[in-house]
Amino acid sequence: METVMVWFRNDLRLHDHEPLHKARQRTPNVIPVYCLDPQWFAPTSLGRPKTGAFRARFLWQALADLQQRLAALGSQLVIKVGPAAQALAQVQAQTGAVAVYASKEVTPEETSEENQVEAALRPSGCWLNTFWQASLYHPDDLPFPLKALPDVFTDFRKEVERGTKIRPQWPTITDLAPLPAGLVADPPEAYLALPEFARPGAYFATDRRAVLEFIGGETAGQARVQTYFWEHDRLRVYKETRNGLLGPDYSSKLSPWLALGCLSPRWVHAQVQQYEAQRVKNESTYWLIFELLWRDYFRFVAKKFGSRLFMAGGLKNEPPPARLAPASVFERWANAQTGVPFIDANMEELNQTGFMSNRGRQNVASFVVKDLHCDWRWAASYFESLLIDYDPCSNWGNWNYVAGIGNDPRPNRYFNVMRQAKQYDPKGAYVKHWLPVLQPLPPSAVHYPAELGARELANYGIYLGGNYPKPVVTPSAWAVEN
Ligand SMILES: Cc1cc2nc3c(=O)[nH]c(=O)nc-3n(C[C@H](O)[C@H](O)[C@H](O)COP(=O)(O)OP(=O)(O)OC[C@H]3O[C@@H](n4cnc5c(N)ncnc54)[C@H](O)[C@@H]3O)c2cc1C
Repeated sequence: METVMVWFRNDLRLHDHEPLHKARQRTPNVIPVYCLDPQWFAPTSLGRPKTGAFRARFLWQALADLQQRLAALGSQLVIKVGPAAQALAQVQAQTGAVAVYASKEVTPEETSEENQVEAALRPSGCWLNTFWQASLYHPDDLPFPLKALPDVFTDFRKEVERGTKIRPQWPTITDLAPLPAGLVADPPEAYLALPEFARPGAYFATDRRAVLEFIGGETAGQARVQTYFWEHDRLRVYKETRNGLLGPDYSSKLSPWLALGCLSPRWVHAQVQQYEAQRVKNESTYWLIFELLWRDYFRFVAKKFGSRLFMAGGLKNEPPPARLAPASVFERWANAQTGVPFIDANMEELNQTGFMSNRGRQNVASFVVKDLHCDWRWAASYFESLLIDYDPCSNWGNWNYVAGIGNDPRPNRYFNVMRQAKQYDPKGAYVKHWLPVLQPLPPSAVHYPAELGARELANYGIYLGGNYPKPVVTPSAWAVEN
């Protein structure tokens, strides 16, 4: 009987998994493979790993969960260390597989990986079949061809909402044949090809100030929906709370599981529908789907614009700014040392946990581009290294948007960080949570300690330029706020 490989990528789940379902329909002899390329963890030109420790840990947890779920079906996940083309060709030679089924990705590195896999397998007559499955809506169902994707999100959303149907989920398979004798995953020695922080045993405790202990995998992802939707019943107020900064339940926190495909957006959508039928249907329940549409939109944008998403001039192909700030200024932003508490607190959260709220991301992004005048691509690639929910389309798409070179219909959108800090963190609770040195300050001074004189600050044990930095900039737009 034929053998088919399922190459798992950013779809680390069993539910709503078209390649797995189709492979199982064709044959019980399905070989689940995951390829871990050491290059993913190599340093970028900024000197930081492309995939950092938080993402690596979340990924290993997701793989362990998938391994357990496959074992329950009678199979195993074959984890190979190396570029996918090489690893899949090896498994093909050992098993005589006739085809590889996998998810279709859209961004250049991922599609080039697909091309390399195709080229490596072609001589053996083994075919790569890819299936689109990362978005809520299937691109073939959109009311326009992707090349005519509206340039503005609202136009996209309105057209889609006018009648595009979300496809049903694929049924979860219930059994698989055991792996052929002799076919085994790479031994643990193979992991030595990975930097130490990216090996499966690398352990570090989660900062206890984190909004949530994010654990990779379908099991934890579904459990999060269970808690947020059903047990804590927070979906009903999502629209009012989603701009929060502290605690597990101001927003869904589903992004890390969606990014690695531990959750399918269609499964989440079905849960929302169930919640609407059983609990309440209101603006909040709609709004979660609205946000998932943003996620879809950035994926379609990435497909339409290709490598432009990652280029200095962005989707608009703008000329680069005449002058950019030096790396030392960028490092102050990255290391939470700008002297602007709201920015530093958010960057500290990112640096200590691999997560940051959407409100935080908007602010630190606007600040580094519009107030510090740093190269937006440095900042986007810093996020890429750290964010456990890193998704190339959502990350680089949002950065294009904030940097004003994407598809934002409002020209020169600027976040007045001081105003935002006072609005979203009126008592400074968030800032004090992440910057304990500022804890003694009264709420009126916590967002701009420099407005107090050195003597008064000393009464609070704060020394600007000593235990807390002096502000790296004081934009004129803040003047009215102080
Ligand atoms: C500069 C910048 C970079 C970002 N990088 C990423 C990234 O790499 N990966 C990522 O998933 N999100 C990214 N976002 C979007 C957003 O900040 C996160 O999706 C959100 O904060 C995750 O928290 P949540 O799951 O609780 O979101 P919720 O508010 O509960 O939203 C539900 C889901 O909708 C989707 N979503 C919400 N907002 C957006 C958005 N603006 N763009 C795309 N999808 C959205 C996410 O999948 C999210 O899980 C970025 C935003 C900015 C401003």
